[in-house]
Amino acid sequence: MRVNIQLRCTECNEENYISTKNKKNNPERIEKKKFCPRCNKQTIHREKR
Ligand SMILES: [Zn+2]
Repeated sequence: MRVNIQLRCTECNEENYISTKNKKNNPERIEKKKFCPRCNKQTIHREKR
């Protein structure tokens, strides 16, 4: 049930992280606060679809 997702910075739209999630546990788009090298700070990263 695990699917690959790409996490994209909400400020610069750079795809910085690849992760997996469980569709059953997280049917919605997930958001994570992560470091973006392009923004050079922590930003919200949202699942790309
Ligand atoms: Zn960024």
